Amino acid sequence: MPSCAVKWCGKHSKTSSYKKDGITFHRFPKIPELKEKWIDKVNRENWFPTKYSAVCSRHFTPDCFEYLKERRRLFSSAIPTLFLPILVSFVFIDIMLGKVKL
Ligand SMILES: [Zn+2]
Repeated sequence: MPSCAVKWCGKHSKTSSYKKDGITFHRFPKIPELKEKWIDKVNRENWFPTKYSAVCSRHFTPDCFEYLKERRRLFSSAIPTLFLPILVSFVFIDIMLGKVKL
Protein backbone atom coordinates (compact mmCIF):
# COMPACT_ATOMS: atom_id res chain seq x y z
CA MET A 1 0.00 0.00 0.00
CA PRO A 2 2.24 2.82 -1.10
CA SER A 3 1.68 6.50 -0.65
CA CYS A 4 3.37 9.15 -2.72
CA ALA A 5 6.84 10.09 -1.45
CA VAL A 6 6.46 13.69 -2.61
CA LYS A 7 5.77 16.00 0.31
CA TRP A 8 2.38 17.78 0.12
CA CYS A 9 1.15 15.44 -2.56
CA GLY A 10 -0.75 13.17 -0.20
CA LYS A 11 -1.86 10.61 -2.79
CA HIS A 12 -2.31 7.19 -1.27
CA SER A 13 -3.14 3.89 -2.88
CA LYS A 14 -6.02 3.51 -0.40
CA THR A 15 -7.84 6.44 -1.95
CA SER A 16 -6.36 6.60 -5.44
CA SER A 17 -6.09 4.10 -8.25
CA TYR A 18 -5.84 4.01 -12.01
CA LYS A 19 -9.54 3.12 -12.21
CA LYS A 20 -10.70 5.65 -9.61
CA ASP A 21 -8.81 8.81 -10.47
CA GLY A 22 -6.17 7.79 -12.96
CA ILE A 23 -3.38 7.74 -10.39
CA THR A 24 -0.80 5.00 -10.45
CA PHE A 25 2.08 4.48 -8.04
CA HIS A 26 5.61 3.79 -9.16
CA ARG A 27 8.41 2.37 -7.09
CA PHE A 28 11.80 3.99 -6.96
CA PRO A 29 14.16 2.69 -9.64
CA LYS A 30 16.80 0.12 -8.77
CA ILE A 31 19.54 1.76 -10.82
CA PRO A 32 21.51 3.86 -8.30
CA GLU A 33 22.10 6.87 -10.58
CA LEU A 34 18.43 7.08 -11.49
CA LYS A 35 17.33 6.51 -7.90
CA GLU A 36 19.59 9.38 -6.89
CA LYS A 37 17.78 11.67 -9.36
CA TRP A 38 14.38 10.66 -8.00
CA ILE A 39 15.51 11.35 -4.44
CA ASP A 40 16.77 14.71 -5.60
CA LYS A 41 13.39 15.51 -7.19
CA VAL A 42 11.37 14.38 -4.20
CA ASN A 43 13.43 16.91 -2.27
CA ARG A 44 12.88 15.78 1.32
CA GLU A 45 15.40 16.46 4.03
CA ASN A 46 17.23 13.45 5.41
CA TRP A 47 14.97 11.02 3.66
CA PHE A 48 15.80 7.89 1.73
CA PRO A 49 13.35 5.61 -0.04
CA THR A 50 12.69 2.08 1.17
CA LYS A 51 11.82 -0.64 -1.28
CA TYR A 52 8.17 0.22 -0.67
CA SER A 53 8.52 3.92 -1.42
CA ALA A 54 6.71 5.16 -4.48
CA VAL A 55 5.99 8.32 -6.43
CA CYS A 56 2.54 8.80 -7.94
CA SER A 57 1.83 9.38 -11.61
CA ARG A 58 1.00 13.08 -11.10
CA HIS A 59 4.71 13.81 -11.12
CA PHE A 60 5.39 12.36 -14.53
CA THR A 61 4.60 13.70 -17.97
CA PRO A 62 2.32 11.47 -20.10
CA ASP A 63 5.19 10.45 -22.37
CA CYS A 64 6.91 8.73 -19.41
CA PHE A 65 4.37 5.91 -19.62
CA GLU A 66 3.86 2.90 -21.72
CA TYR A 67 0.10 2.32 -21.92
CA LEU A 68 -1.10 -1.20 -21.42
CA LYS A 69 -4.66 -2.54 -21.32
CA GLU A 70 -5.69 -2.05 -17.71
CA ARG A 71 -2.66 -0.27 -16.38
CA ARG A 72 0.38 1.62 -17.46
CA ARG A 73 4.04 1.13 -16.97
CA LEU A 74 6.66 3.73 -16.37
CA PHE A 75 9.60 3.72 -18.74
CA SER A 76 12.72 2.67 -16.88
CA SER A 77 14.46 5.97 -17.67
CA ALA A 78 11.60 8.21 -16.46
CA ILE A 79 12.26 10.94 -13.88
CA PRO A 80 9.54 12.83 -11.97
CA THR A 81 9.29 16.44 -13.18
CA LEU A 82 5.79 17.72 -12.29
CA PHE A 83 4.22 19.15 -9.10
CA LEU A 84 7.41 18.90 -7.10
CA PRO A 85 8.40 20.97 -4.10
CA ILE A 86 10.89 23.47 -5.42
CA LEU A 87 12.60 25.47 -2.73
CA VAL A 88 13.61 28.19 -5.17
CA SER A 89 9.99 29.15 -5.79
CA PHE A 90 9.42 29.87 -2.07
CA VAL A 91 12.46 32.10 -1.92
CA PHE A 92 11.07 33.83 -4.98
CA ILE A 93 7.71 34.40 -3.26
CA ASP A 94 9.51 35.81 -0.21
CA ILE A 95 11.39 38.21 -2.46
CA MET A 96 8.09 39.33 -4.00
CA LEU A 97 6.65 39.98 -0.53
CA GLY A 98 9.76 41.89 0.43
CA LYS A 99 10.76 39.42 3.16
CA VAL A 100 14.08 38.61 1.59
CA LYS A 101 16.47 41.36 0.63
CA LEU A 102 18.95 40.65 -2.09
ZN1 LIG B 1 2.33 12.33 -5.77
